Amino acid sequence: MNKIAQIFQTLDYGPAPEGPDQANAWLDSHGRKFGHFIDGKWTKPGKTFASDNPANGDKLADITEGTAEDVNAAVKAARAAFKPWSALSGYERGKYLYAIARAIQKHSRLFAVLETMDNGKPIRESRDVDIPLVARHFYHHTGWAQHLSREFPDAVPYGVCGQIIPWNFPLLMLAWKIAPALAAGNTVILKPAEFTSLTALLFAEICERIGLPKGVVNIVTGQGETGQAIVSHEGIDKIAFTGSTEVGKAIRAATAGTGKGLSLELGGKSPYIVFEDADIDSAIEGLVDAIWFNQGQVCCAGSRLLVQESIETRFIAKLKTRMASLRVGDPLDKSIDIGALVAPVQVERIRDLMKRGVAEGAVVYEADGPVPAKGCFLKPALVTNVSPANTLVAEEIFGPVLVAMSFRTPEEAVALANNTKYGLAATIWSENINLALDIAPKIKAGVVWINGTNNFDAAVGFGGYKESGFGREGGREGMSAYLKPAWEKELKAAPAAKPAPAKAENPLDSGHLDQTAKMYIGGKQSRPDSAYNRAVLDPKGQTIGEVGEGNRKDIRNAVEAARAALSWSTTAAHTRAQVLYFLAENLDYRRDEFAARIKAQTGEDGANEVALSVERLFAFAGWADKYDGAVHNPPLRAVAAAMVEPLGVMGIVAPPSRPLLGSIALIAPALAMGNTVVLVPSAQSPLSITDLYQVIETSDVPNGVINIVTGDSVTLARTLAEHDGVDAMWFAGSAEASAIVEKASITNLKQTWTSRGLYYDLADRRFEGDYFLSKATQVKNVWIPYGA
Ligand code: NAD
Repeated sequence: MNKIAQIFQTLDYGPAPEGPDQANAWLDSHGRKFGHFIDGKWTKPGKTFASDNPANGDKLADITEGTAEDVNAAVKAARAAFKPWSALSGYERGKYLYAIARAIQKHSRLFAVLETMDNGKPIRESRDVDIPLVARHFYHHTGWAQHLSREFPDAVPYGVCGQIIPWNFPLLMLAWKIAPALAAGNTVILKPAEFTSLTALLFAEICERIGLPKGVVNIVTGQGETGQAIVSHEGIDKIAFTGSTEVGKAIRAATAGTGKGLSLELGGKSPYIVFEDADIDSAIEGLVDAIWFNQGQVCCAGSRLLVQESIETRFIAKLKTRMASLRVGDPLDKSIDIGALVAPVQVERIRDLMKRGVAEGAVVYEADGPVPAKGCFLKPALVTNVSPANTLVAEEIFGPVLVAMSFRTPEEAVALANNTKYGLAATIWSENINLALDIAPKIKAGVVWINGTNNFDAAVGFGGYKESGFGREGGREGMSAYLKPAWEKELKAAPAAKPAPAKAENPLDSGHLDQTAKMYIGGKQSRPDSAYNRAVLDPKGQTIGEVGEGNRKDIRNAVEAARAALSWSTTAAHTRAQVLYFLAENLDYRRDEFAARIKAQTGEDGANEVALSVERLFAFAGWADKYDGAVHNPPLRAVAAAMVEPLGVMGIVAPPSRPLLGSIALIAPALAMGNTVVLVPSAQSPLSITDLYQVIETSDVPNGVINIVTGDSVTLARTLAEHDGVDAMWFAGSAEASAIVEKASITNLKQTWTSRGLYYDLADRRFEGDYFLSKATQVKNVWIPYGA
């Protein structure tokens, strides 16, 4: 048989290698040894470590290990560059971003080849996905730079941003971080991952070439310790981190109490749900992309297949057939599906996890087919016979390993999908759009793809729920992650709490001793678990009432009640508005009584505070059905619906001052957006809130939506922050206590807002809108393809 006939017979691929010559020439031009890029210049290489090609083990270059002094020099350069850079017009900054985008396109093949050599990902992916998306990000943010002042009128950049990225999409993660930061007017110090520094260094050369002002972008290479030096540097105003949840938690703890801005894009274990009415062949192709794109080293990889029981056997059989045609091999070969993993240590890690999973009962399937003898290669694997507790189901594997489970009903699918500490992404396959759109909001994840997977675009925010982190990259949300309110820098220290008045000699003088307010939990008044009460004193030191001394048990009960009431989040916005209006109405009806209570506790005129509280309830009732999402039009046949969702259960600790407004101003936005609340009112003056029980009870607030625990603010705040059932935490109090709350929040990486000892005048109208609304919500992007 001649060769052509033979090829027709077997349909085998021939080799289609991409040449490494230009990338090698670029490496040679640097003597295969790199320093850092600081203040527009290359530093002399210091102590170095090797960067290898994982496909063959060859050393590509020596990379400098960044020291604390290197980070210092970079911060100094970025600080000096900040003023002139942020003072440029948006148009001027945009032109630089545009020049970067153009230059990346011009050198796209060099970037793609270098990325593949350094990371091991197939050239098909670096050439057709990574690098085009990098250019798209810089183009997109060119526009944001120019329209910033119109779209974010009261916002300013943070200043100097420290950015730390992982190795799985080296240049793309750099683009996701640098483009919005620069558009907003920040300057940056970026540390690439130790395995994959090369395209970041080539990017630095591009910055040099287009004449980006020195110090605006600084690239400091190194390992975890260099990252730590960035995180702990006092001259850095914001940390943006992408990487593992473990390191993300360490960074949250290290930045607690420093006032640094923080966004965390962390790990995932994303469900891939296939309903029985799905287009199965498309779902199989989608699944190949979901779990074997980039060898499964994708934060949002669809690594947990949940397939409806009625089609499970057929689906798994088809999947195995498809797996047999996936080609593992040299990533520079254009017809390879699966390239090399990033490093031997990753291969070992994955093998260990597999061993553990198998010991726990998992069954592993791998198709026949060749795998290169040398290099970091693993076959695609399908794991079955697993329970939700199996290591391979629970842990992020970050490799080409798919675990499969089945479900019977949509409810079961949702329960399994959400049975994870992560919440980055999810995929839903069904030809029934009604079903798919019913499931999407029920899944706790920042991105949901319907009948597609791994869609990304610069205009569409990306980021996680739960322990997948907080903050978004891309789109409007991504821009706001690099901006802060201009007025924040004018905040003054909160006045020191008035010393507690000495207790009056004869407490019976006040004539109010019969009143002992209880806790308010699940719509009922309940006695404090501790069976202790604390006196509430007037400014003269006379006891005017007593409230319960809340403890851990009370918080636990309140959180349980708040979780049980989470159907509030799916109550129509109109209904939530009605409840808030009703609260306002009933409070207004009793304004004299509430004003008198404020005066009794603080000695100050309470009428104005009650009026402001009523107005604030009205304001957020008005917001309930207006603070909503957007529909994005990414450059493919799909729309992405950016849905604004509540965070869940919020722990809110009110400031000591303004007994009524201090609490109302914080709970109103939380409730308006569909969160349920555990509120700790002012420790000094809690009676305005314990009086509110009756107003709550007469205003149609469902049981458990507002829960109130009185007692010591800092003790209760710490307990709330540590509680895994609390999704977010707001705390108004001292700097020291704010640090305690932020540190305690790492248990489940809850989002926090703390006042850090600063005086937030909650009467100010600036707190009547998106300042707190944005902090009470998170955006989920649901991708919906179209086209028959
Ligand atoms: P990693 O957390 O080990 O490292 C990430 C980066 O942090 C590297 O640059 C590393 O040098 C640095 N680092 C390590 N220890 C540090 C410390 N103590 N302080 C500061 N910096 C430190 O993660 P990885 O193995 O490089 O990447 C894989 C992880 O990244 C996965 O969990 C994956 O899901 C996640 N990821 C998330 C997203 C997202 O957008 N959510 C995107 C890509 C990857």
